[in-house]
Amino acid sequence: DAADPKLAPIDPSLLQTTKTTTPKALIPHDQLIFGRTFTDHMLTLEWTARQGWLAPHITPYQNLSLDPATCVLHYAFEAFEGMKAYKDTRGRVRLFRPDKNMARLNKSVARIALPTFDGASFIELIKRFCRLEERFIPDARGYSLYLRPNMIGTQRTLGVGPPGSALLYLIASPVGPYYPTGFKAISLEATTYAVRAWPGGVGNSKLGANYAPCIVPQMQAAQRGFHQNLWLFEDVDAETGVKEDFVTEVGTMNLFACVRGKDGVKELVTAPLDGTILDGVVRDSILALARERLVPEGWKVSERRFTMRSLAEAAAEGRLLEVFGSGTAAVVAPVRSIGWKGQMIGCGLPEDREVGEVTKRMKDWIEGIQYGEEEHEWSVEV
Ligand code: PMP
Repeated sequence: DAADPKLAPIDPSLLQTTKTTTPKALIPHDQLIFGRTFTDHMLTLEWTARQGWLAPHITPYQNLSLDPATCVLHYAFEAFEGMKAYKDTRGRVRLFRPDKNMARLNKSVARIALPTFDGASFIELIKRFCRLEERFIPDARGYSLYLRPNMIGTQRTLGVGPPGSALLYLIASPVGPYYPTGFKAISLEATTYAVRAWPGGVGNSKLGANYAPCIVPQMQAAQRGFHQNLWLFEDVDAETGVKEDFVTEVGTMNLFACVRGKDGVKELVTAPLDGTILDGVVRDSILALARERLVPEGWKVSERRFTMRSLAEAAAEGRLLEVFGSGTAAVVAPVRSIGWKGQMIGCGLPEDREVGEVTKRMKDWIEGIQYGEEEHEWSVEV
């Protein structure tokens, strides 16, 4: 709401567009690599403490010019989003729950003293950008245009304080399906020597500064043959008084487990929004769809803390049915096994299968909405 003084207004009607004179050649579908090639243009908005958000610009994709003393380069005044534009079977372009990305970016930037912005106006600008770049959006299922909104502090100063100027910009990269040849279940290594986030920290904000420290544990997991590392949070279990490894999330995915309880009831469980995980858009969508479509089938759906010990126990007793990650990149990623303190926990997938039933249904439901095959309020036409 532009009238909300907490969200600084943006005026989309002031948009000025300068089109490229050297349009890029399109990359063949099968050669698209995530985040490697970009569209012809970028969207930029400057902000100053005195004037607020200035007129938006769409310009040819180009380098930024920053003084070496610019605060983002020293103190990491940067927050970003990841979202996608999809082309449906009738050639219409769609966004998936863009309001969630705008709300999350506003939360992230507010945490690091960058200016907030009116999300509805920025979505309007994203739509115009997508229309201009439409030729870059592949029209095959699984393909999309990855959109990267980014905000940086641009004040030229080594003084540590709130930036007096900022830049909000959007770039876009055409991407192919995460699993081009069908699902491939991944293995995770639970990291016990490093912590990604903690209550009261900033792990629930999408700050660039949260991502660089994740690469070394990721590389170490890869060195030991795992696809990704799983982040834990060690804490005392309130019920038992014993220290436990609580499951939080994967590198750029939230984590879900399907467990059959000792009472026989099937439960879809994921970690709660307690500050140690990112509030994923796909996570929220899976929870909503599960409450709508799995609960009537007898499932329990829970956002609650759960331990590695409980997963290991369920696996040993044949009650761990499925584990999967969720995120914008892959929608869902089936997990075959988790390495934890020297043991290998099998996550319920038979050896000859790459994806479990709930994981597959979730992907089909969400993609159906993203690609407009199921009419749904989450899918916003551009
Ligand atoms: N956790 C982290 C740390 C992430 O970077 C992401 C990707 N944004 C997610 C979870 C999944 O979030 P989303 O469903 O919004 O893509």
